[in-house]
Amino acid sequence: MRIIPISLPTPFYIGPVNVYLVGEDPVTIIDTGPKTKEAIEALRTGLRAAGFRVSDIRRIVLTHAHEDHCGLARSLRDEAKNAEVFVHEWETGHRHSRLEYAEHRSLLVRAGVPEDEIETMRRMYEGVRVYADSFADHEYSPLSDEAELEFESGSLRILHTPGHTPGSCSFIREADRTVIAGDCVLKRITPNPVLSPDPIDSSKRFPSLAEYLVSLARLRTFAPTLVYGGHGGPVHDYEELFNRYFRAIRVRQAGVISIVSNDGATAWDVSLAMFPDAGDVHRFLAVSEAVAHLDLAHSEGKIALELRGATEVYKPIAAD
Ligand SMILES: [Zn+2]
Ligand SMILES: [Zn+2]
Repeated sequence: MRIIPISLPTPFYIGPVNVYLVGEDPVTIIDTGPKTKEAIEALRTGLRAAGFRVSDIRRIVLTHAHEDHCGLARSLRDEAKNAEVFVHEWETGHRHSRLEYAEHRSLLVRAGVPEDEIETMRRMYEGVRVYADSFADHEYSPLSDEAELEFESGSLRILHTPGHTPGSCSFIREADRTVIAGDCVLKRITPNPVLSPDPIDSSKRFPSLAEYLVSLARLRTFAPTLVYGGHGGPVHDYEELFNRYFRAIRVRQAGVISIVSNDGATAWDVSLAMFPDAGDVHRFLAVSEAVAHLDLAHSEGKIALELRGATEVYKPIAAD
């Protein structure tokens, strides 16, 4: 089974995105790139170099529903006629459209984000949404954990690896332990656990960082020999990356706990202290990062949490 990486330009800060062509029946593309002229042209060029055209695609599989990964899904599906689009059900419908719905707004209020900043973030994401067409829930086929995507000469096993988003999935070819991991594994940066409502109970927050650590550990049990990520080059030494991620997360957690240590702090306060220079575009991700670390530290019993009106305030654990 041939897995062919194709790099596509994006208008986003993160830079190019990797999509993966599985060049045998049924011809499958894993992720699509954003909905831009530049990305579709680069995709056509990459497909042609591998001996294919968009009209050959039968399956469009999405690692997750961020615009840089899913943006062209509808255009490709329509052009390829009978192509089927697959995504995990926790990624569909309103759940991935960040900041659009009341649930998202209430998560930001709880995080202590001021009203005018919420409005700025919302406007910013309206600008991002033009890079993807939306799909109705019934237009997707679900990706289920442990199910197989069959190909002529082998298969890819679906692994639900939540964390970066609730419905993020990875795909493993067990014959040589090659993994396609989307934004779950990135060579140079630790992926951001994006603030989302819990797919099972939208009044709650998805425990993104705790879930992410489980996903990383689960991937480790397969002893991957090669991991293809959503951005940057492939990872050959997963063990090294795993240890590096865990260390980075522990270091950041210690920093978060020290910020909370005096008078208490909201996630918004913590995000400002951690990332004082994050501009508009990154403020939402900075808040996501702060919330994720505060949630994990709280679930590990390292900090306390109390409600002040609608806002959550984290405090040091009182000494006995
Ligand atoms: Zn992403
Ligand atoms: Zn990405």
